[in-house]
Amino acid sequence: MKRPILIHPDPRLKKMAAPVADLSDARRELARDMLETMYAAPGIGLAAPQVGVLERLIVLDCVKEEGAAPRPLVMFNPEVTAASDKLNTYEEGCLSIPEQYADVTRPAEVQVRWIDQTGAEREEEFGGLWATCVQHEIDHLNGKLFIDYLGPMKRQMITRKMVKLKREKAKA
Ligand SMILES: [Zn+2]
Repeated sequence: MKRPILIHPDPRLKKMAAPVADLSDARRELARDMLETMYAAPGIGLAAPQVGVLERLIVLDCVKEEGAAPRPLVMFNPEVTAASDKLNTYEEGCLSIPEQYADVTRPAEVQVRWIDQTGAEREEEFGGLWATCVQHEIDHLNGKLFIDYLGPMKRQMITRKMVKLKREKAKA
């Protein structure tokens, strides 16, 4: 089942999400719903706070090649355990900040540890778009958005556009 995605500004997008203590059926269902919501958007990553759940859960699939098999990843309590000194700049966007894009610089490679949907602990190194995406989604769990990396002028401009968009949506 698809879930509505919160649009910035929303206080729930600025909060610290709580660690997940156990994998209940409801949480597995939430992860499935989040993947469905992400693919439908379409997007390459989604964090639980974006659907109003303040828990440390993200989903992502950064396979972009046409015809390539999807690779949905579900990460409970994801943690960056190592980051490269080498940096990479990508033009980022966010399903909670529709149609706004800006360059953000982050470590080019990161090692991430998480609990998957079966309860198994996993650790993997990510590069390229995957590295950018996983860091962007983990930021959401700490109440941080990609526009927080921008200067105040650009951030305020985008926020004003989102306020206007939400007002128009509320009227429709
Ligand atoms: Zn986002």
